[in-house]
Amino acid sequence: ALSKALRDGELDVEYQPIFSAVSEHAEAAEALVRWAHPVRGRIEAGEFIPVAEETGVIVAIGDWVLQQACAATRNWIDQGAVSQRFAVHVNVSRLQLADPSFVNRVVDLLREYQLRPRQIVLEAREATMLGSDTESVVRTVRALRRVGVRLALDNFGTGSNALSLLTEIGADVLKLDGTLALPSGASDADTRVVRALVLLAHALNMEVVAERVTGVEQLRRLRAAGCDLVQGHLVGRPSAPDQLITQMQMG
Ligand code: MG
Repeated sequence: ALSKALRDGELDVEYQPIFSAVSEHAEAAEALVRWAHPVRGRIEAGEFIPVAEETGVIVAIGDWVLQQACAATRNWIDQGAVSQRFAVHVNVSRLQLADPSFVNRVVDLLREYQLRPRQIVLEAREATMLGSDTESVVRTVRALRRVGVRLALDNFGTGSNALSLLTEIGADVLKLDGTLALPSGASDADTRVVRALVLLAHALNMEVVAERVTGVEQLRRLRAAGCDLVQGHLVGRPSAPDQLITQMQMG
């Protein structure tokens, strides 16, 4: 059904803005795929991506999302809605990174849409980076980073090897998992942990994005802890590419 959905145009890409915690400018947007199922209605990525990964359809879906995201970014830039440096974050799966042709595909898209390598930020979870095929995944990631494409470690802090990922593979962006992003009820100790993680990331030349920012007080705590960028319902919801432009102001 997923292969058919992709062919029949039932998949959509929405974009959620990512703001500088300091300047409050939108610096990037994350591409999020949705399925407008003809019978079941809207289905979120979390529900169907695991199936797509199991069956391998993720490679085709992931490629389509990446292409859509590059095209949307080119459009926003051409319309003057975003700066020339605006970046797009695209979630990638292990199967895509394990495919040796992926590097060339990304380079081709950069050329086609006239984007600079650093304008594509590939988001990978810890489980994507580690496990079987790790060698080919690491080879792809290193090749892409050499080109200048950035790597973000998604849902950082929830896995068991998080710290070794930082030193052994390296990345450019650390996306603090929403559960660690000082939601309401976070303690002083939680705040100190985030501040220490931010220092660690900065020492490794990484930027920190806090996800699932939903409250004003949470935003204040994250800013005080030194987070560089914020994403979440408080500052901007996922929306269609032509509506993202209206969301470029934080809040
Ligand atoms: Mg992500």
